[in-house]
Amino acid sequence: MPANELQQLKKRLSDIASLRSAAALMHWDQSTLMPERGAKHRGEQLAAIERLAHERSTDAELGRLLERLEARSPADATEAALLRVAREDFERDTRVPGAFVEEMTAHVTETYHAWKKAREARDFKRIVEPLKKTLDLSRRYSSFFPGFQHAADPLIDGSDPGSTVATLRPLFAELRARLVPLAREITARPPFDNSCLRREFDERKQIEFGALVIRKLGYDFSRGRQDMTAHPFMIRFNANDVRITTRVKKDDFGEALFSTIHEAGHALYELGIDEALEGTPLARGTSSGVHESQSRLWENIVGRSRPFWEHFYPELRDSFPAQFGDVPLDAFHRAINRVERSLIRTDADEVTYNLHVMIRFDLEIDMLEDRLRAEDLRDAWNARYEADLGLTPPHDGDGCLQDVHWYGGLIGGAFQGYTLGNVMSAQFLEAARRALPGLDDQVRSGRFDGLLSWLRANVHSHGRMRTGPETVRHATGRDLETAPYMRYLEGKYRALLGTR
Ligand code: ZN
Repeated sequence: MPANELQQLKKRLSDIASLRSAAALMHWDQSTLMPERGAKHRGEQLAAIERLAHERSTDAELGRLLERLEARSPADATEAALLRVAREDFERDTRVPGAFVEEMTAHVTETYHAWKKAREARDFKRIVEPLKKTLDLSRRYSSFFPGFQHAADPLIDGSDPGSTVATLRPLFAELRARLVPLAREITARPPFDNSCLRREFDERKQIEFGALVIRKLGYDFSRGRQDMTAHPFMIRFNANDVRITTRVKKDDFGEALFSTIHEAGHALYELGIDEALEGTPLARGTSSGVHESQSRLWENIVGRSRPFWEHFYPELRDSFPAQFGDVPLDAFHRAINRVERSLIRTDADEVTYNLHVMIRFDLEIDMLEDRLRAEDLRDAWNARYEADLGLTPPHDGDGCLQDVHWYGGLIGGAFQGYTLGNVMSAQFLEAARRALPGLDDQVRSGRFDGLLSWLRANVHSHGRMRTGPETVRHATGRDLETAPYMRYLEGKYRALLGTR
């Protein structure tokens, strides 16, 4: 009864998806609404539900069902993709022994708390011993996946399937060779004045303006909602419930608005996945790179462009007449595109951002290759910041302790998605422009449905039917390349520098 077996597989997979989305809902509640003292019980609830999901996803019967289905030829492309993805997930969940997962989880939890203290004390030395063990665990994790070439590849594969050290290294080297001189050229001049963004902005009005913007971009509040958190994120429960969070600062106008657009970009991706895939593991963004390409496309390429603000600036001025009444559009546009060499990745502008990412990527690889010892990470970090950005962190808190990734997880695979996303975003936009010749005029008149429809048809709807590299190839007709991104950045900053 092969059709019946396919139904059995789908039922099992949709049960796993439901358990996972129940856990996601608890996570969402934990970071938005839950009272502080609910934390202990929430931890127990989450552990119980995650244990159930893990039992289901590693069930030997699921493996046998997959084998039987794999033995016959699939009815169509969707079924083939479903079997491929279900197999990948099953392998990832079953190859790593339970005892290792327990050891790793306990170590990572402990390290995370130690990192918080070390960061507060701005002292890398306090975290060296746990970091050595994390590195050892990362290598051991890799060893459960012997089919890969490089120790970082299984870790990269977890978030960006289809990308490997061998494909990323040349791409990043090419990008760095162009970005370092561009950053140098721009920062040799005085930075754009962004004092207009540092005035006082009513927090409620900021949130309202952000909501108005993302509603126009196509975020449907009947299929999602926005709440406040310390660290903004997007979270999907199902095809019709994809939520975002944001944070707001009274004296920093960019903070809430651009993080709102960013998370809405992630949400538009999830909301655009073909509903026929719902309940299967195909109904999800395909990789962290493609996900970041969508958030950054809306946040940066669209949301920091001049046509975008030709449309929204009058409304912004109406909302904040005292703050922007005396600021011409060009000055505002320059302010939101200020470039400066800085120490903190999450605050970095479009030109320098990828330099921060590539430093981390290279250091991860060096550690996994045993060319860099954990105890030497700080010195290597500081040397690279000096070389790439001409800055040395005054203390470890603004240096190698600034990001949670290596201290709240394994080492490897955590950073490449950000830069992959930036590079992809420009390649997608060039392809969209070829299909939509009047795109700038549409944006100028506040119409985003053309671009959103193009993204839905070419990127969003396919979910995990296509890997990241396949998504790029199908949507743009070419493999991922740095040229569109560099054309975008160089063109944008040439124009910006010429306008003052
Ligand atoms: Zn993001």
